[in-house]
Amino acid sequence: MTAKIIDGNAIAASVREDVKAEATALREKGIEPCLAVMLVGEDPASRVYVGMKEKKCAEVGIRNIDARLPAETSQEEILRILDEWNADPSIHGILVQLPLPDHVDESTVTERILPEKDVDGFHPVNVGRMSAGDTDAFRPCTPHGVQVMLKHIGWDPSGKHAVVVGRSNIVGRPMATILSQKQPWANATVTVAHSRSDDLAGICRLADLLIVAVGRPESVTGDMVKEGAVVIDVGVNRVDDPEAPKGYRLVGDVAFEEAKEVASWITPVPGGVGPMTIAMLLQNTVTAAGRSAGTS
Ligand code: NDP
Repeated sequence: MTAKIIDGNAIAASVREDVKAEATALREKGIEPCLAVMLVGEDPASRVYVGMKEKKCAEVGIRNIDARLPAETSQEEILRILDEWNADPSIHGILVQLPLPDHVDESTVTERILPEKDVDGFHPVNVGRMSAGDTDAFRPCTPHGVQVMLKHIGWDPSGKHAVVVGRSNIVGRPMATILSQKQPWANATVTVAHSRSDDLAGICRLADLLIVAVGRPESVTGDMVKEGAVVIDVGVNRVDDPEAPKGYRLVGDVAFEEAKEVASWITPVPGGVGPMTIAMLLQNTVTAAGRSAGTS
């Protein structure tokens, strides 16, 4: 079997079209959706992500303001800016790019953002509401984007065995929560695997839906994939490649060439989950803007 490719760029483009229409409708009512983004420090990958998010905001008609702060910025100053953004009714969504420098406590910062402006879906109030099945809670963008991808290819996880490899708070854990919910495009039987799991290969081979978010290049190999499984590769890793123009190339956590010979559907890296994450962020921002005006 050679897998069909799940084209994250195309699916994300269609989500962005919907978001753009929603943003236009809001503007016609006098509401200009606005996302405020904070970047602390000079991490090159974070700068690229923030740049991409801002570019996509502009494309769909979301206004952007940002604070690009030096790495030595105090936690107090970060919290002060967040308080300002929280109090500003023209700002609908707030995003703090992670990771933060070591002297800043990520939980304190995440919890300072008002839940109704927490478009990343990381605030404990949103995490708790989502876990309790509240479909109005903002969902973390990456796992939500994966669910939307499954919907777009018409693959319903209901009744299927999903294995999520990775249990981070931003990907693995919320992915497992979303897939196990008693809701449309969920209802899966979910196993969460991690670095302490015995027989990872055996667990992966049980998956009808295999979602990998570990951050280790090509660690899930073809022999770990069940025939006909749907494989979603969340990982983004740089590996040295002297032949590539930049001296490196991006690979996922799944050995794509091997896995695609066994899977029925598979996401590429790049061009798979990555664009979906940004599209869902834009979606959450217009949703927040609509709610602020009582229109959604
Ligand atoms: P974290 O490092 O926070 O979590 C990694 C998880 O993988 C942990 O739960 C860890 O287990 C588990 N793990 C590590 N090694 C193994 C192993 N050998 N076998 C089984 N499990 C293992 O990473 P993130 O969740 O933040 O990100 C994962 C990947 O996804 C990264 O490549 C990241 O760049 C990418 N990513 C991509 C996004 C996108 O938009 N495409 C968005 C966010 C992340 P334990 O808990 O036991 O340590």
